Amino acid sequence: MRENFEKSYDLVVIGGGVAGVAAALAAARRGRRVALVEKTVLWGGLATTGIIFIYLPLCDGNGTQVTFGISEELLKAGMKYGPGDIPAGWKEGRNLPEEKRYRTVFSPASMVLALDELLAESGCDLWLDTLLVDAECRSGRVESVTVANKSGTGKLRAAAFVDASGDADLAFYTGASCPVAANALASWTLEYSEQGGGHLLAPTIRASIVGGSVDPDFTVPGVNGRMVSEFVMAGRAEYRRRLSEDYASGKSNRCTRFPLKVPAMADLRHTRRIDGEFTLQPGMEWQAFEDSIGVCADWRTTGKVWELPFRALLPKELENVVAAGRCISSHGDAWEVTRVIPVAALTGEAAGITASLVAERCCSAHELPVAEVQLAMKQAGNPVHISELYPGR
Ligand SMILES: Cc1cc2nc3c(=O)[nH]c(=O)nc-3n(C[C@H](O)[C@H](O)[C@H](O)COP(=O)(O)OP(=O)(O)OC[C@H]3O[C@@H](n4cnc5c(N)ncnc54)[C@H](O)[C@@H]3O)c2cc1C
Repeated sequence: MRENFEKSYDLVVIGGGVAGVAAALAAARRGRRVALVEKTVLWGGLATTGIIFIYLPLCDGNGTQVTFGISEELLKAGMKYGPGDIPAGWKEGRNLPEEKRYRTVFSPASMVLALDELLAESGCDLWLDTLLVDAECRSGRVESVTVANKSGTGKLRAAAFVDASGDADLAFYTGASCPVAANALASWTLEYSEQGGGHLLAPTIRASIVGGSVDPDFTVPGVNGRMVSEFVMAGRAEYRRRLSEDYASGKSNRCTRFPLKVPAMADLRHTRRIDGEFTLQPGMEWQAFEDSIGVCADWRTTGKVWELPFRALLPKELENVVAAGRCISSHGDAWEVTRVIPVAALTGEAAGITASLVAERCCSAHELPVAEVQLAMKQAGNPVHISELYPGR
């Protein structure tokens, strides 16, 4: 029989990507009753289901680690069931003059297994295969969310919510304004390959993990249901085209190189984000913000470091929703920096802490003294200001 279920929590996290997992772990470890809602059956979002298997750097490229906490914990979790290891220079201590950046390549399946373990230990109530479909909001306060799964539809109530859906689905379903950006075509795949370098699992299994295509001329906003299908189909068509071309030219053959896995979610970079109380803008690297909750590095270049303002996690129009991951309020070049895996985990941890405090006080996130979030972040091992990492700056 179709069931209409209803449950109450201190906080509900929407989206079990890297950001949502970090948020749920941070909140559950503070003793909160947490529900984590994920529409697929895998944790990790783009990093696992989307086969984006490069954990971009926690360091500035000049030997200084800038991102710690749950972000570093998840980087290490991705290595737990193999293969690979963290770069040697980053094993022994901090601030080593190290050529290589503190980044890793991980097996998406190993990452899922490790996240399963961390989440099970944390005591979160886990809702896999469950889709957020609506939100009930009164005077800027979300009272409950409607979710759908095999049982039917149900309501999850909470005092605070984290929007870690990647696409700001929760904020959007409340009717709050959400800026949208377009996407270049991309599709990352897992391949078996006996040829060439880059073997992640070499030498015994000899499977390689290969990045897919990017076509800058094919742009879609990833929040139009129809266009998401077109995007995914076009990505797979491009992959087929490349494979066929390589087979036909003799560059590779179907026995020694073939597809193992294609992404089970659309590889969309920028979709919808919250309209935050503050929007991080291009050129704000090295800028100090009084309300910074963490520090991250620009993955594209060395020596560019950013503080992350608390206000960029707070949707202007909502009182008890905190954003995390690639849907926080950052724009253009700043969005490029904040949307990646290590930063998603960092903002996830901050969002989980914030939502815990909001739930505890039954207050508005906008009224919460940021010093409390900063203190909790520091206690969890995260520097919150650049000056803590670079004395004299
Ligand atoms: C092509 C491409 C290449 C990239 N390359 C890299 C790279 O090399 N290194 C790197 O660090 N980053 C890279 N990124 C960025 C990075 O992968 C993501 O931005 C990051 O993983 C975002 O994490 P997230 O948790 O914020 O969002 P997501 O990973 O998008 O997670 C959101 C989760 O919410 C779930 N969800 C969504 N809507 C709902 C709903 N309505 N109900 C329930 N659940 C829902 C999704 O299933 C998903 O699990 C790349 C991204 C793309 C697209």
